[in-house]
Amino acid sequence: MKENILQKLPGIQKKVLLKDYATYKIGGPAKYFFIARTKDDLIAAVKAAKKSKLPVFILGGGSNLLISEKGFKGLVIKIDISGIKFQGNKAVAGAGAGLTKLAYLSGDNGLSGLEWSAGVPGTLGGAIYGNAQAFGTKICDTIERIEAINLKTLELKSFTKKQCQFSLKNSIFKKNKNWVIVSADLIFQNKAIKEIKNKINEFLEYRKTRHPIDFPSAGSTFVNPELKIKNKKLLEKFPELNEYNKKGVIPSGFLIAKSGLAGKKMGKAQISEKHSNFIINLGGAKAKDVLSLMNLAKEKVKKNFGITLETEVQLVGFKKSN
Ligand SMILES: Cc1cc2nc3c(=O)[nH]c(=O)nc-3n(C[C@H](O)[C@H](O)[C@H](O)COP(=O)(O)OP(=O)(O)OC[C@H]3O[C@@H](n4cnc5c(N)ncnc54)[C@H](O)[C@@H]3O)c2cc1C
Repeated sequence: MKENILQKLPGIQKKVLLKDYATYKIGGPAKYFFIARTKDDLIAAVKAAKKSKLPVFILGGGSNLLISEKGFKGLVIKIDISGIKFQGNKAVAGAGAGLTKLAYLSGDNGLSGLEWSAGVPGTLGGAIYGNAQAFGTKICDTIERIEAINLKTLELKSFTKKQCQFSLKNSIFKKNKNWVIVSADLIFQNKAIKEIKNKINEFLEYRKTRHPIDFPSAGSTFVNPELKIKNKKLLEKFPELNEYNKKGVIPSGFLIAKSGLAGKKMGKAQISEKHSNFIINLGGAKAKDVLSLMNLAKEKVKKNFGITLETEVQLVGFKKSN
């Protein structure tokens, strides 16, 4: 069937380079590309893709993605539904709202809950999808309700927090990719504006000193495993593990660094020397270089610690991905 999506969707673009929409600065073309600024835009795009039988990929801030040079042979819908409305200690925000902007705006209103997310270059929708978190706080701690639309049936549904099935870096939206998050009802704690701003600055300073933010990346490559290591030999060799065992979380960066991979390069991709859970683009890195480093880190950590690392970064345009 001939694709007639171009006539059906005003504003649609062809052959848009996805590296321009990904913090990694890696990625080939989207066959079609559309920016949804309203819920109606999104519905129109989903309908048009359905009629043209095109696969759809939902893009937020592109900050948790590794996109292959082959790109995506369907319609990429960038969610730019970004309105934010505060009322009392609550807010309704579009899925395309930027996390950093949300953190500052809520702070200006004396609302605490998103301080951890200042400096995260993603959108609210992307954060909900992967239950983003930092400094002991998760996006789900601020969520009351989510509105989402189903790509297959076009059903519009309001999810309670419980129905979102939030868990470690996971949600119903990651498990069932047919749901596209449109907006979220957020709930905050009232605090002094100064206290919130100080916390934001403290977290930003931490990111600046500990993370390789001067290079393109997609943030943490792997989820920090929530488990305890019981192997006596390992506990003797790496005494830090006793401390991590107390918290019940082992930083993936620690496991990768202790596997001797800090600074390891493949082409123009490198496991950061500053933080080993970041794989950085030194300039002109290929997706396959990053992928090779991911596989190497997984292999070595499994061999050295018996732990299977779970990749946090979402893969797009590879054989086993979208
Ligand atoms: C410098 C840096 C720092 C970071 N710090 C953190 C951190 O502290 N904590 C943390 O958890 N992560 C962090 N990240 C990773 C990333 O920024 C977050 O996971 C972010 O929430 C991803 O949002 P996004 O909009 O960029 O999603 P994208 O990367 O665009 O997409 C990620 C996934 O979400 C899906 N998605 C996006 N929007 C929607 C939607 N509206 N509906 C349904 N699915 C959707 C996409 O299809 C894709 O599968 C960091 C990344 C960088 C580069």
